[in-house]
Amino acid sequence: MTIDLEALYIDLHQHPELSFQETRTAGIAAQHLRDLGLEVEEGVGVTGVIGVLRNGEGPVVWVRADMDALPVEEQTGLAYASTAHGVDPAGTTVPVMHACGHDMHVTAMIGAVEKLVTERDQWSGTLVVVIQPAEEYGAGARAMLDAGILDRYPKPDIVLGQHVTPLPAGIIGVRSGTQMAASDGLTVTLHGRGGHGSRPHATIDPVVMAAATVMRLQTITSREVDPQGVAVVTVGSIHAGLKNNIIPAEAKLELSLRYPNEETREAVLASVERIVRAEATASGAEREPEIRTDHTLPATINDEDATARVTAALQRALGEASVIDPGMFTGSEDVSWFARDAGAPLVFWFWGGIDPVRFAEARAAGRLEKDIPTNHSPFFAPEIHPTIEVGVTALSAAAREFLG
Ligand SMILES: [Zn+2]
Ligand SMILES: [Zn+2]
Repeated sequence: MTIDLEALYIDLHQHPELSFQETRTAGIAAQHLRDLGLEVEEGVGVTGVIGVLRNGEGPVVWVRADMDALPVEEQTGLAYASTAHGVDPAGTTVPVMHACGHDMHVTAMIGAVEKLVTERDQWSGTLVVVIQPAEEYGAGARAMLDAGILDRYPKPDIVLGQHVTPLPAGIIGVRSGTQMAASDGLTVTLHGRGGHGSRPHATIDPVVMAAATVMRLQTITSREVDPQGVAVVTVGSIHAGLKNNIIPAEAKLELSLRYPNEETREAVLASVERIVRAEATASGAEREPEIRTDHTLPATINDEDATARVTAALQRALGEASVIDPGMFTGSEDVSWFARDAGAPLVFWFWGGIDPVRFAEARAAGRLEKDIPTNHSPFFAPEIHPTIEVGVTALSAAAREFLG
């Protein structure tokens, strides 16, 4: 091994970039792939990187990592903590942090490719490295596919990917079937009639309408979805009005919805629409509310046969006890667009980044949720070691399962 992966990780961590702005990260990844002898294209789907290693006859394996960071102010207190800032799409300067660990994904990818290049006389096939932008927008995979990568590069027989998560370092979580939820992001605009705060009877108050809507939306998961199932309805943003004595004309809600399958998705979306329209009617609204879909992500569904093979390969590489079924995660990913568009199986797994002793203590104290920061937290801080090494081993072992 010649690439200093720890130095690479720290460098990426200190230089996080927002979605679709990952030019520095992409340049560094591309240079490593070029140095390792891959054919490389940059700027694919804005800032994405593709690397191809043709190594004789055999299957085509796509390995995917994402590289964008989040508008979060890092509070880990680490010596290498990010102090970076960026400009978001609204033009606002924001702190930026790799709060989802995508810096770890790029680092493990470069390490895994180096390992596969070193072992190239032991396998045969084609490795396609996909480093995508803007996973956090749910838009980067689509941008790369829209750039025509399925037409211009060998089509995958299998798509593989991994995500660092608050499991103990050394542990891999993978399951057959639904690994991550499907999700929709909606914006709901409720129309009232504005007026003076002293004369509510002459207005239709969208603030009250919004409050009633938010409360009623909570009954979807508690009263309508089968308790055996899983669904999430979160209203993450609510905006109305500018001043205490003005009743505004409209209110906007932003919803994040999650579900394990298409059936639940359709049911929840229908319930949202019914409740939003009914609450507007109940308020006497003179104009129908608008419901806009801002993004849609499919469920991340792991192929049964391919997952069995990857699980066995990971057990051989890391030990049987290191591979667990973590259950379905209610987070969502855009990785599966690559597999869906290509008609190829997908295997996507999680790997732990938390000090196992700290994790065990938190679990014993019943304080996992409190003491172990999750992805997107300003305190999210994967241990550098052995997280990098496990990520490299897992990705390269899974790829070798198909490449021989
Ligand atoms: Zn994330
Ligand atoms: Zn992520």
